[in-house]
Amino acid sequence: MPAELDPSAGDALLGAPQHETEERLRAARKIAEDALRANATRFGLVIETQRDVAAAALDLDDVMKLICERTQLVTRAGSAEIVLIRDGELVLGAASGFSTRNVGDRVSKAGTLSGWAFENDESAFCMDTEDDPRIDEATAAGEGTRSMVVVPLRHAGQTVGLIQVMSDKPDCFQIEDLNTLELLSVVLSSAMSHASEFEAKRAQVEALARFEAMVTAAVIGIAVVDRNGRVVETNPALSEILGYGPEELLGRSLNDHAHPGDITTEAVAFDELMHGERDAYRLEKRYYAKSGDLVWAYVAVSPVPDADGNPHVAIEMIEDITQRKLAEEQLREHAERSEHQALHDALTGLPNRVLFQDRIEQGLLQAERDGGRIGVLLLDLDHFKEINDTLGHASGDHVLKEVSARLQACVRASDTVARLGGDEFGLLLPGLGDPAEIAHVLDKLTAAIQESIELEGLPLGIEGSIGVAFYPEHGRDVQTLVKRADSAMYAAKQDNRPYAFFEHPTESSEPTRASLVCELRLALDRGELDLYYQPKARLTDGSVQSVEALLRWFHPERGLTLPDEFIPHAQETGLMKPLTLHVLDRALGQLHAWDAEGLELAVSVNVGTRNLIDLGFPDDVAAALAKWGLPATRLELEITESTVLQDPHRTGIVLDRLDALGIRLSIDDFGTGYSSLAYLHRLPVSEIKIDRSFVTNMEHDEDGAVIVRSTIELGRNLGLAVVAEGVEDAETCSLLAELGCDSVQGFHLSHPLPAAELATWLRSRVGAAAAASR
Ligand code: C2E
Ligand code: CA
Ligand code: CA
Repeated sequence: MPAELDPSAGDALLGAPQHETEERLRAARKIAEDALRANATRFGLVIETQRDVAAAALDLDDVMKLICERTQLVTRAGSAEIVLIRDGELVLGAASGFSTRNVGDRVSKAGTLSGWAFENDESAFCMDTEDDPRIDEATAAGEGTRSMVVVPLRHAGQTVGLIQVMSDKPDCFQIEDLNTLELLSVVLSSAMSHASEFEAKRAQVEALARFEAMVTAAVIGIAVVDRNGRVVETNPALSEILGYGPEELLGRSLNDHAHPGDITTEAVAFDELMHGERDAYRLEKRYYAKSGDLVWAYVAVSPVPDADGNPHVAIEMIEDITQRKLAEEQLREHAERSEHQALHDALTGLPNRVLFQDRIEQGLLQAERDGGRIGVLLLDLDHFKEINDTLGHASGDHVLKEVSARLQACVRASDTVARLGGDEFGLLLPGLGDPAEIAHVLDKLTAAIQESIELEGLPLGIEGSIGVAFYPEHGRDVQTLVKRADSAMYAAKQDNRPYAFFEHPTESSEPTRASLVCELRLALDRGELDLYYQPKARLTDGSVQSVEALLRWFHPERGLTLPDEFIPHAQETGLMKPLTLHVLDRALGQLHAWDAEGLELAVSVNVGTRNLIDLGFPDDVAAALAKWGLPATRLELEITESTVLQDPHRTGIVLDRLDALGIRLSIDDFGTGYSSLAYLHRLPVSEIKIDRSFVTNMEHDEDGAVIVRSTIELGRNLGLAVVAEGVEDAETCSLLAELGCDSVQGFHLSHPLPAAELATWLRSRVGAAAAASR
């Protein structure tokens, strides 16, 4: 292909010298013709080489070898070499003739023409190596070279090597040889590029084959999937793992066999991967093999970009890690088992002391955060040692198991029942709103323990003592709480009581609020609470139309406990509602009983803030009246100013409803609060009771007398009945009558009395009045 020939070839053709004389012209023509002929021969050889190279197998080594031989022939050189540049070094690529070097040998750069041509990146021509400053004589002599030509070999604009011809005689080459070499270098260059392309392709094909072999032989499952996750290619290992043949996998999504729980998370990741929004990802995933077995797999998915760099398929590597997972599972189970063993009692399976304390610790942290209350209970069985000694350990074990089952049945799932050792159990009751909540649990626990246990066909009675300590009242850390529950338990044992609350030694006569409220709750259930009644008499005629119900608590140990000791505590807890409903029920029940005896009275019941913000309260009151078949007019409710002021909006609603029912409302302890008169006027009240602190000493206390007088006037102006309470003597009574007070209540008339005594008192009074009027 002449078009590919170096333009310098043309210059050489036309470059023949011109002479003026015929002779010289002729001689010159001859030379030119010879040169032309010689050139033509050379060109012929170059073109032939080109054609041969094109026709030859496209192996780079063969191409270089062929070129060397042709070059040697064309230049009539002793030898020809192609030297390649690899990593900045000169390496023999091919040789012919006397060259003793082997392909791959290093060609020295120092002191050689090859080196000079390489460094200067230009052709070099040497007439005599012994007379050339560029060349080290000895090196040249070693190679047997006296004259040589070197031409750089360029490929894709870069010098990639040299082509050189050598002779063992000086002056053996002409400038034409340089031209020829340059021409050949072009041929070689294009042949080399064809060959290297071919090499690259072959390398690609080989790599592909290697890859395919690898994929086929891989123990890891491999699938190539398209943008939609459908399998395009798969390997035998994947079939091995999933049990599905390639034909069953191709064209379908691997998710068809995935565990439903693992599909969504991966779907999101795959979608992002295919949109180029994320890199390769790895995850653990479960598949169902064809056999139905669950297969755990470690899946690595990486995108394969198309020519534009956008992901068009993805390669999924799926490693079967089922065995590892099973091993892990076993390890974990083993660890859990040994942890369970370390923290639980072997006999009953209950948490042991260590776990119990840990649970308390957790409970305390929670309680500190949410301000809750915790109950820590210790239970010790009585006479357990005797059971063990007389009936044997098997019976003892049976009792312990039975008791632990019963204890668990008494508490919520969030509570903890633990066996602390021997016959000692611990209970943790977290999240108690108010201590009263524990009362039911204590009752249940006591009943559960006392219920007899069948042993060898015989019922055996069991007893135990429970000690109770509360966070925060009795302690704020695990040790203190447990210690105090323990000392409470011993107190219970000593007094032969089923349970006891911890009591601070210094104030042992004064129970803490927590235990008091708790005991109150139990007292309510056990009927330890009773009502006393105090009459209210009209000053005009001395008649008694109504009585006030006042709570009395007959505590088994402390004896009579007055309401001022416990009502304020109950007010702060959820106990207030059942307590008031209890009083209502008892008071109305009493009216009902008196009715039957021919004694028709109204009753006043005291209510607290909690009752008045309870929107269900009016319905409860109505239900109580209905239960005893009494009209609303027979009931009076006493409320205090401060009660109303707590939440005026809600109390307003409740009071209106109570008023609508027809119930009389009375403002108790008037004068001690801060209600504005205008506000009072808006409330549906019909009576005010002047607080006894102003009344009791009014004849000696100027201020008290002023307040009583102005209150009576105020009541008049507002159209309200005025009652004076705490009237202890006749002088006060007559003073109040003078001031226009409507009614009185107090020791002067009567102390609060039990129902039966009040009835007797009333009858004797009516009798006395009748006798007096006679
Ligand atoms: P209160 O509503 O002011 O009840 C009158 C209190 O004054 C009663 O005390 C009564 O025994 C006492 N008292 C009566 N006459 C005299 C007297 O002449 N002189 C003196 N110094 N005191 C007299 P008690 O029964 O101890 O009740 C105290 C408070 O406890 C009551 O004050 C009331 O606020 C509350 N309370 C009593 N029972 C109940 C109840 O069932 N529910 C509610 N929410 N509170 C009650
Ligand atoms: Ca009262
Ligand atoms: Ca009062």
